[in-house]
Amino acid sequence: MQPTPQVGYKERAMQAEIIAVGSELLTPYRQDTNSLFLTDRLNRLGIEVIRKTIVGDDRKQIAGAFAEALRRAELVISIGGLGPTEDDQTREAAAEVLGRRLRRDEAVLREIQERFRRYGRKMAPVNERQAMVPEGAEPLPNPNGTAPGLWIETDGRLVVLLPGPPRELMPMFLEHVEPRLRERAGDVLLLTRELRVAGMAESDVEQRIAPIYTRYEGVQTTLLASPGEIQIHLRAWTRDPEHANKTLDELTDRLAVALGTHLFTTRGESLEEVVARLLNTHGATLALAESITGGLIAQRLTSIPGSSSYLVGGIVCYSNEVKTAWVGVPAELIRQKGAVSAEVALALAQQIRERSGATLGLGITGIAGPGGGTAEKPVGTVFVALADGRRTIERNAHFPGDRERIRWQAAQLALDLIRHYFQFPTGQP
Ligand code: ATP
Ligand code: MG
Repeated sequence: MQPTPQVGYKERAMQAEIIAVGSELLTPYRQDTNSLFLTDRLNRLGIEVIRKTIVGDDRKQIAGAFAEALRRAELVISIGGLGPTEDDQTREAAAEVLGRRLRRDEAVLREIQERFRRYGRKMAPVNERQAMVPEGAEPLPNPNGTAPGLWIETDGRLVVLLPGPPRELMPMFLEHVEPRLRERAGDVLLLTRELRVAGMAESDVEQRIAPIYTRYEGVQTTLLASPGEIQIHLRAWTRDPEHANKTLDELTDRLAVALGTHLFTTRGESLEEVVARLLNTHGATLALAESITGGLIAQRLTSIPGSSSYLVGGIVCYSNEVKTAWVGVPAELIRQKGAVSAEVALALAQQIRERSGATLGLGITGIAGPGGGTAEKPVGTVFVALADGRRTIERNAHFPGDRERIRWQAAQLALDLIRHYFQFPTGQP
């Protein structure tokens, strides 16, 4: 292998920290999702998030978080705590750390009053607090709520205060923060690729690809495992997008060769998206007879817009009686081979295809547990088959994990079987 050209991700991007404020975020009941949105948007601007902090509604804690973050990062964005009530302390904490006095902004107050008038409500006196603005700060309009955001510049650093509710934070960031940050972020860009693999363990993926990606020092490569799927994220920070794109494409191609038929996307698509595209481009239709997955395959396929063009329908055939009466699996076959067997999966696929008139029929059966396993067919055993009227392909697997993991992996196995049918029509599944 020839030496690989380097992409310098260590090129200095603007660095940011995020502070999520809210005592509820320190309980098991609420998660900080806003920072995921912000991190994605900041990365796209070429801004690197170096740390995230979660603090409760406590002025001292919030002030401490601001002070620390400002020592490390050029951009500090806080989320939440801008509301009118006593527990909303972010404004005060930021003003304190920055050494700015709060003063009432008449224009902001008028906007809040106007908002209350429009909805025919009387403004409570506490809402006046939301018109308090640190000296030199610029309020950011909030068309979806009362609390304006705040944009504060200080000693070459930027502090941005955003409201907590996602439906207020997101549009405010996109409309008022992102355009300003784009001007500041400089010319470092983050370029990414996402490869996804089905039917391989994380350690196998790592073994195959580590000798390749470790040669590309300028690309950050991260493996993320979830049931039935491994994602490979490639990230490069660069000032030279043309060169970086070439490098990422070259690395992607080499990884694709190493991963072979297990690779199902280089564009971060879900397996159901890939299967939907294949069914569409081949003008094929599909009918499902789902036992173990209980409709999960249908659910995943119908979550893709336009699914009516390829999915004719499906039957959740849990009991033996329904496998026979609704799908047409001979009762004798179930008695002989057992409901969880390759033969029954095959019969489900063939019968649902015939009864529905679809191009393809898929049948799946298995044991999700925790009960019902035997020595011969332990919990996690799955059989899946696909029939097109001329030939059938089958797979079986034994999945680890709890009920939900097993069901998800079973659906993954089934979708991957459909993908193989189209992409490798002559090869072994
Ligand atoms: P409000 O005027 O509604 O009080 P606020 O700016 O004070 O707005 P918070 O009180 O901190 O915001 O949060 C309001 C709601 O927004 C929370 O109950 C929560 O549902 C949601 N929220 C806050 N922070 C986050 C976060 N980091 N991620 C996701 N949701 C959040
Ligand atoms: Mg609040």
